[in-house]
Amino acid sequence: MKSVYLNGQLLPEEQALIPVTDRGFLFGDGVYEIIPAYGGKLFRLDEHLDRLQNSLDGVRIGNPHSVAEWQALLQQLLEANHTSESDYSVYLQITRGSAPRRDHAFPQDIVPTVFASATPIIKPADEIYRQGVSAITLEDTRWKQCHIKAITLLPNILLRQQAVDAGAAEAILLNEGYLTEGAASNVFIVLKGEILTPFKSPELLPGITRDVVLELAQQNNLACREAQISTQQLHEAEEIWITSSTREVLAVTLLDGQLVGDGKPGPLWSSIYTYYQAFKKQLRQTA
Ligand code: PMP
Repeated sequence: MKSVYLNGQLLPEEQALIPVTDRGFLFGDGVYEIIPAYGGKLFRLDEHLDRLQNSLDGVRIGNPHSVAEWQALLQQLLEANHTSESDYSVYLQITRGSAPRRDHAFPQDIVPTVFASATPIIKPADEIYRQGVSAITLEDTRWKQCHIKAITLLPNILLRQQAVDAGAAEAILLNEGYLTEGAASNVFIVLKGEILTPFKSPELLPGITRDVVLELAQQNNLACREAQISTQQLHEAEEIWITSSTREVLAVTLLDGQLVGDGKPGPLWSSIYTYYQAFKKQLRQTA
């Protein structure tokens, strides 16, 4: 039976209920995190909790827990769901809470709602990693605070669905002629042998996987840097990758119906993917 965490309690998922007056339900007034757990060990927990703090600060919700409390409650959640055998992702959501009257402005004295659940990660099949996926470019229609991991995801949902309707796995977003990120991923390109990804800014989510990929590239002496990437550079790229906690590093081999490079995942993707798997394995083995 799946146990979830809700407001201080671990309980069966079907018993985890919130009032319809919750501002998460009524306004999408909340933030979230997705934290992978490999072999029962939380991946980059400090970095995820830092990003959570930034998101909470961005929407002015007080953090209901200290780092130690988060650690303890997430560990309990993992143990209750026997997650030590495989890869899980922890979904963590905090809303501003439930208020009797619907009003846009913050209500006085309400208590945030805290919810967390652990679900097995369903990674794309090995075959998909070997072939790569297709993506389409779309104008980035989201708001100006995309560094906040807000639960209000309607624009991302519509963009991703537009990609799916076109038979593509991801929408790669462009803001006034420059690359920002994917609908639910960060984007890297390889241009003239160099690995490039957009600078962190309010236009994109500072992905934890993005940081890991940059670190792995640096540690292995691969040329990489943050850069402003134009639509033209995106279309000229030898390789394109999308990164996220659940998809890890996935090559885009078809962009807007055109082959990227020779239409197969490139040599730098292959190196980074191998380093990423080794890094995960090492984490599973550390005590
Ligand atoms: N950008 C967006 C918009 C996302 O939704 C995600 C995935 N949550 C990412 C980037 C990648 O972030 P991470 O590597 O932390 O999963």
